[in-house]
Amino acid sequence: MSVTASDRVTATTLQTGEGASSAPVQGAPAAARAAATAPPAGVAQPGPAATGVRPGRLGSLLANLPFLGMHASVLLVIWAGISWELVAICLASYYVRMFAITAGYHRYFAHKSYKTSRVFQFLMGLLGTTALQKGPLWWAAHHRYHHRYSDTEHDIHSPTRQGFFWAHMGWVMSPAFDATEWERIRDLRSYPELRWLNRWHLVPFVCASAIVFFAFGFEVFVWGCLVSTVLLWHGTYTINSLCHMWGRRVYETGDTSRNSFLLALITLGEGWHNNHHYYPASANQGFRWYEIDISYYVLWLLEKLGLVWDLKRAPEEVVAGRRGRRSYLVTADEEQAPPAAVA
Ligand SMILES: [Zn+2]
Ligand SMILES: [Zn+2]
Repeated sequence: MSVTASDRVTATTLQTGEGASSAPVQGAPAAARAAATAPPAGVAQPGPAATGVRPGRLGSLLANLPFLGMHASVLLVIWAGISWELVAICLASYYVRMFAITAGYHRYFAHKSYKTSRVFQFLMGLLGTTALQKGPLWWAAHHRYHHRYSDTEHDIHSPTRQGFFWAHMGWVMSPAFDATEWERIRDLRSYPELRWLNRWHLVPFVCASAIVFFAFGFEVFVWGCLVSTVLLWHGTYTINSLCHMWGRRVYETGDTSRNSFLLALITLGEGWHNNHHYYPASANQGFRWYEIDISYYVLWLLEKLGLVWDLKRAPEEVVAGRRGRRSYLVTADEEQAPPAAVA
């Protein structure tokens, strides 16, 4: 299936968390939310919102050659060898760029959970592109789509709807989602420097890799640029796949999002995904002291340094599961039930 940018879904109300407490579809069963958020009848809505998203529409081998090639390049460790220094470089490269994805692409560009300067906004986008997850505008637009249609037939990556493989990486390999959905990022698309980054998203990684290769050598290039990038991809993908399958549900969100301590560690706090689906506007996804959220701690530090400001935090009543009159906490009985029953 090929969907062009002009075919894309027209503007719809976006739930980035702000005002989510008054949104009628939040906390409602997935089927009801799907109906409530489905495109209006009679309006041309091509793309996944009109047809539902079905797995199996992967791109051609040629189109996916760079993606598959990066995975194959991990084998270069046979020639690069291994040492504690190289593993440390790999992890440092992984976590620095994971921060750019979680605090930049996700919490800033997709959810606007804090404010920053135009320069720092660009720098976060620039660092994010080195994770090779396309441009910040592409990423934010698709992620906003996920929140709007979570675990309905219109969700781009729902493991319960389309299976683990599709939710994890199949949708990334599909040509159906190559285009940037400009209507979903009206707040961002007016910045020419962000549009440039979005278009030339490969350039920063290629330049950085070339510098690393020539300045530090083949071994550092393999571990710091290739192995760590593949790990970074799959670390990020676990939030779309495993965080909708494994873990604890604290809040009734109308989808299958879950909290996972382990996934929070490998994604710098994104593992508190049930919290996040409950209140997406919050800069902190770990709501409680024991819910470790490294990205938020760094954002807190950046706030103290004056580089970011107006961090949104989940209000006490939200953390307690009270929005409006009823409680949105998942009870012990509900937690035992399968996701569909919970939803
Ligand atoms: Zn999700
Ligand atoms: Zn999100």
